[in-house]
Amino acid sequence: MKILATPADMLHEALTIRASGKTIGFVPTMGALHKGHIALLKRAIQTCDVAVASVFVNPTQFNNPTDYTTYPRTVSDDLLLLEDAGCYAVFLPEVVDMYPSPTCSAIDVGRLNSVYEGKHRPGHFSGVALVVVKLLNMVQPTHAFFGTKDLQQVAVVRQVVHDLSLPVQVVECPTLREPDGLAMSSRNMLLSKSGRQLAPALHASLQSVRKGYLQGILDQTSIETTVLENKGFKVEYLDVVHKGTFRKPGPHDSFTDGNFHVVIAAWLEQVRLIDNIPLIQ
Ligand code: AMP
Repeated sequence: MKILATPADMLHEALTIRASGKTIGFVPTMGALHKGHIALLKRAIQTCDVAVASVFVNPTQFNNPTDYTTYPRTVSDDLLLLEDAGCYAVFLPEVVDMYPSPTCSAIDVGRLNSVYEGKHRPGHFSGVALVVVKLLNMVQPTHAFFGTKDLQQVAVVRQVVHDLSLPVQVVECPTLREPDGLAMSSRNMLLSKSGRQLAPALHASLQSVRKGYLQGILDQTSIETTVLENKGFKVEYLDVVHKGTFRKPGPHDSFTDGNFHVVIAAWLEQVRLIDNIPLIQ
């Protein structure tokens, strides 16, 4: 597996691959890799001639400095996992190479910036949009793979790709879960043993909201918020939204199109967890 450390080396490699007529499947990550990330990589390998992953903890998308410094970093394990899964090349830039001088340009994705994740993590999606565009320019992929786990991020990436006419196909991949239902996440390793035992309650609440909602019990979100808060979670939001716009369903919306999801963000101990499930499976 090739390890490319600078944007210039990455771009040179990418242009060589593309000049040979091959497709590139790109999986951007922040490292501390788990099976969910590897599932994205496997999909990239299946779909494209060459799979490239990046491992970069992007400072511009962290609104909370402690969250940035405590974000898990396990680079040598990550490299082993990527190589074992058949990754062709990994892009491993330093912050100073990604942001050699202060960035003045900003991408505003409109309403998605100010609701749900955007509301609770001010500036987060501008940072995500910025780094995704920079990475796409450096890796030159034909396809880029993102997880449904970060549902609003997928909506933001699709919006940016559409608005800026970026020549890349966005591929959305399903959420991988632990056997107890907890969505796999790099942040799960920050939980204590008792926190880890409590954490699957998040997924259980999503399922209860789905069940209640489909039976016409629309206040199931407040019932489940109370259930979680009584267990020690601090819920930031729990709601049903359209996966593309993050608008709440209106009276004329049909749920059968699969586009509505139950979304949640909650703190457990000092760890912020997010998850979502489709309203109709
Ligand atoms: P991250 O390293 O957390 O920024 O995630 C990198 C990519 O992996 C994003 O597209 C995530 O949505 C995706 N991802 C994270 N967790 C999971 C999971 N449990 N299942 C599938 N994809 C995931």
